Amino acid sequence: MNSIKDHLTSLLQELPKGCALVAVSKTKPASDIQVAYDSGHRDFGENKVQELVSKEEELPKDIKWHMIGHLQRNKVKYIAPFVHLIHGVDTVKLLKEIDKQGRKNERVIDCLLQVHIAKEETKFGFSESEIETFLGSEEAAELTHVRVVGLMGMATNTDNEEMVAAEFRELKTLFNKIKNDMHAANLQLEVLSMGMSGDYKIAIAEGSNMVRIGSSIFGSRH
Ligand SMILES: *Cc1c(COP(=O)(O)O)cnc(C)c1O
Repeated sequence: MNSIKDHLTSLLQELPKGCALVAVSKTKPASDIQVAYDSGHRDFGENKVQELVSKEEELPKDIKWHMIGHLQRNKVKYIAPFVHLIHGVDTVKLLKEIDKQGRKNERVIDCLLQVHIAKEETKFGFSESEIETFLGSEEAAELTHVRVVGLMGMATNTDNEEMVAAEFRELKTLFNKIKNDMHAANLQLEVLSMGMSGDYKIAIAEGSNMVRIGSSIFGSRH
């Protein structure tokens, strides 16, 4: 059990100042999260709504829960009351549903738009041009119960580090461009969520300020 704490501590020492760590606890028991919590960590990431909801009920209320997986519109309502940050917003329809649920719960829900940077077909996300078109639209400006606070991306799952670096670099460039050029009340770009256990060092070198790490903290998943 102590190895969770050790892994977390050494990882936190390794991360540069200003780079946040989301400890990805999906498939792991609440007791593992409690160990990390007891060593002072508060940000945890889950990718399934049902699992997120039941862990939220069971664990301390000051945990900041990150929804990192693909989110279906009909499930937004279950996490809207408490979720800290939704990383994988990949359609306009989903963002609108989050806005609707934010309104119902009388809160503004922070979101990251997921950008499709990998060369794989299977990854969700907006293309770069879709993001710019959408963020510049009336439709986006009208949403008052969501705040787009950043971008999220996943690189291709490959040993080719140059390719991974190039994909992260592309996302960082888009992030800077939107941050500098686009302005709206509900657009406050601060978070660039990129990097997992296998590629976080590359992601950080390319400008990530939030990494999502699971297996390097909690061990491999079965
Ligand atoms: C599972 C997952 C992670 C963490 O993966 P590890 O390889 O265990 O670090 C990060 N991001 C997303 C979106 C995930 O689904």
